[in-house]
Formats: sequence, C-alpha cells, structure tokens
Amino acid sequence: MTKAAPIIVWFRKDLRLADNRALAAAAADGPVVPLYIREPTESGNGPLGAAQQWWLHHSLEALRARLAQFGSQLILRSGDPLDVLTDVARKSGAQRVHWNRRYDPSGIATDTAVKKALAAQGIAAESFAGQLLHEPMRLLTTAGGPYRVFTPFWRALDSKFEPAPPIDEPQQIASPETWPSSEPLDQWSLLPAKPNWAATFSEIWTPGEKGAAARLDEFIDEKLEDYKVRRDLPDADGTSLLSPHLALGEISPAQIWHATQGLQTEAGEGVATFRKEVAWREFSYHLLFHYPELPRCNLDRRFDLFRWLDHEGDFSRWSKGLTGFPIVDAGMRQLWRHGYMHNRVRMIAASFLIKDLLIDWRRGEAWFRDTLVDADPANNAASWQWVAGSGADAAPFFRIFNPVLQGEKFDPDGAYVKRFVPELERLEPRYIHRPFAAPAALLAGAGIELGATYPRPIVDHAMARDRALAAFREITSAPREP
Ligand code: FAD
Repeated sequence: MTKAAPIIVWFRKDLRLADNRALAAAAADGPVVPLYIREPTESGNGPLGAAQQWWLHHSLEALRARLAQFGSQLILRSGDPLDVLTDVARKSGAQRVHWNRRYDPSGIATDTAVKKALAAQGIAAESFAGQLLHEPMRLLTTAGGPYRVFTPFWRALDSKFEPAPPIDEPQQIASPETWPSSEPLDQWSLLPAKPNWAATFSEIWTPGEKGAAARLDEFIDEKLEDYKVRRDLPDADGTSLLSPHLALGEISPAQIWHATQGLQTEAGEGVATFRKEVAWREFSYHLLFHYPELPRCNLDRRFDLFRWLDHEGDFSRWSKGLTGFPIVDAGMRQLWRHGYMHNRVRMIAASFLIKDLLIDWRRGEAWFRDTLVDADPANNAASWQWVAGSGADAAPFFRIFNPVLQGEKFDPDGAYVKRFVPELERLEPRYIHRPFAAPAALLAGAGIELGATYPRPIVDHAMARDRALAAFREITSAPREP
C-alpha cells in the first residue's frame, strides 16, 4: 500500500518539537519531511552573526537527534527557499508545506512571496502562529494603531490576551516513502575556524530544546522567587538565560508564560516582573512589525542630524573591552567569552558607546548582532534605539549612565569585574570601578600598571557627558516628526 503524500515542515526560528503548531498539524495528517533551509540572508538584518551561527550548528544537531527518536530525519538544504521547497516537494512527492510565521521584515516578505509562488505550482502552504504570545497585527490601540509606549501595551497584553496554551510534541512523526537528499551540516561551516573563539561558549550553554527546557525548570525552581531583586546584579546569575533559546525558537514564549502561570503567590513579584520582561520581547516585535525600518533608521528622525564622531580607535577599544572603565570592559569581555552580556551591563556598555564615545548606535547594534548568541532582530534594534533615545518609549538621551557609579551600584564588591577583567583581580573593591583614582602604591601592590597592564580611561566621563548633551541640543531645536 502506498503511503499518503508527505507534508514538508519548514523549520525556521522554531527549532523545537513541542508547541510547534506547524509540525503538530502535519504530523496529525500524514508523513512529514522536516526541513531546514540555510537562506542566503536570514533576516532583514543580514546573515546570522558568527556567535549565533555557532548556536545554530548545535541547535540543528539537537533537533536532528530529537527527530531521530521518532525515526525521522532533518533535511538540510541551502539556497533560495522557494527553489529548495520546490525541489524537496518534487523529490518527496509532497503537495503541502507547513511553517510557523516570522514577524521580521524579511521573514514576512519571504512568507508572502513563497506562499504565492508555491500556490502557482499547486503546492498548498499553511502558516501557523508560535513565535510570539500574540500576533502584532491583532494587538492594537483603541484608535486601531500600533502601541509606541510599553506600559499601555503591557496592560493590553496582560489583560486582554491570554495566549493559547502550549501544545505537546507529536506522539509520532511518520516518515515519507523516500527521503530527499540532505547536505552535511559540517559543510555549512557554521562553527568558527580554528582557533575557535567560541569554544568557551559551551562553559554555560547547551543549545537545543532539551537545554531550553532545563533552563526554564532551573529558573523556576531556583531563581524566579528573587528575580525582581537579583535580575539587575550582573554577578548574581539571577536571570533565566533563556534569550538564545528564544531567539532560535527552541522554546516558545507560550511555554514560558504557561509554566509561570499560577505561581503568583509562591514567587511573589518575581513572576510579574519576569513576565514583563518577556513582554518587552513582544513589544520589540510589535515595533519591528509596525516599523520595519527599526534596525536601520532612527524612529525619532531628529537623530538623523546627530553629529556622531564615529572614531574607529574608540570603537575598537570598546569592542575589545579596553576602555579603562571596568564595568564596560567586563561586559564586552563577557560578550566575547560567552556570546552573552547581562542586561544591566548591555545598557551601560551601549550608553558608553553612544553617549561617551559618540558612536552611532547602529555600529553597536551590528557588533552585538555578530557576537551575541541571542542576537535578535527585534530585541537588539529596539534596545539600542531605547538606549540611544531615538526609539519608541526610549530612555531620554540626556539620561547618561556614569559607568563608575553604575558599577558601584550594581557590582558593589566588583565580583563581576574580577571575573572578566582578571588583571584587576587584586584591586581593593573601593577602587575596582575607578582604578584610575587609586593611589599609585595601591595599584603597584595589586600588580596593576595603568596604561600597561590595564588601560587608562579612553575618555573623561564628565567632559564626554557635556559633549554629548551639546550634540543633543543641536538636534532638539529641530521639530519632532509625528
Ligand atoms: P531574563 O531577564 O530572564 O528575561 C526573560 C526574557 O525576556 C529574555 O530571554 C528576553 O527574551 C526577554 N527580555 C528581557 N529583557 C528584555 C529587553 N530589555 N528587551 C527585550 N526583551 C527582553 N535581547 C535579546 O534577546 N537579543 C538581543 O539581541 C538583545 N540585544 C540587546 C541590546 C542592548 C543594547 C540591550 C540593552 C538589551 C538587549 N537585549 C537583547 C535585551 C536583554 O538584555 C536580554 O534579552 C537579556 O539580557 C537576556 O537574558 P535572560 O534571558 O537571562 O533575560
């Protein structure tokens, strides 16, 4: 007896089996051809960054292993999605394709074009929701427009939209009669060439659906209770570390939302604070959907006139963690070591680049995109514009972080700095965030020679602050576009 025609399930930013509606619907209907396409450009932001390619490699291996438990395979192909889908459909006899929708500009453009072209060939395409808690086109203000301010957005999300409960992974995934050919993962060269600068990533990360589920369980059991207090302390390990898993869809926001349901009384304000952060991700996607220019253009167009200095040497010192401001340097080195930086330190490092060094936020956004394992077209662009003051509901430009005071407030004993800037390890805590102010004898006793073992500050913060405010005043005289 011949089997039913298979359905292609095109995996994209949803590298998971549970709460995957595209997969569940296909598996319930017949044999499945699971497919991942390496597209020439992965998002409106350009190709995946180097750190996230490392993650993708391991995540695809994990997905392949999970599918193998069902006797299934993961077909890997590179090329234009329409060409690949057409070929795989022809080789496998599939007449239907399923996928979960994306909300970044190039994801949307690809969805629309592919769906239309497949229909013209007699191949039916069906798309499903799952990347977000709510679809951005459905959550609108009473006037029918997009939200630009987080608080009313959050209120609407929290009160009006109970996300659909997550669904289980399929009980079985039937195989097609013939498997189309697949490319070897190693040939995609997603891992960095030797010496592998990403080798240290595995000190803290386990890519894949199982790694994501373990992170969520650990977070709920051990960190959620104190999340409100500890989430701002970079050395406390007080956050969920779910962002890279979310970025490639190894876990869905609905799974996170529902896992924290009903925990209110036990975990106090931790739950609400945590959910609010997950809602910031939703808000970022909401902005990206309604303002697709978000990764490239200032939402406040007055910033188009801003006079950036864009000094190459300063950018290089910032990216290498050699600014002479320990909290900034620790953050930039954490980024290099683990492909991750704590949220508080991201804000400090971004503010330093934009306001102390007067370097265009788009340079920082691009560096983060290349080096973060959680690089996300919506979160990254929205966060950089938030810090710059050029975005929707952004921090005002004139609120300029002092990297020394921020360090002293959020890393009071300097434990975070010492972890990532070992050359300051022996310095007394009271000088750890301002080694340039320490007496010479104390520096010598700690084995530090400023300008030799650790840099002097590359900028005077007080001068830089005045300079930034002056540059800002120049553009605020221009009228603000609605
Ligand atoms: P938790 O505190 O456990 O939060 C849970 C989840 O909520 C996160 O995984 C994330 O999905 C979401 N979230 C938390 N904070 C934010 C936020 N401020 N904005 C949007 N979503 C948030 N996050 C990314 O996922 N990708 C990026 O590319 C990215 N770039 C950033 C760039 C800058 C300049 C700044 C200031 C922030 C950026 N963030 C980005 C947001 C935030 O720093 C990370 O989401 C967070 O540090 C991830 O750690 P976690 O999973 O332990 O967070």
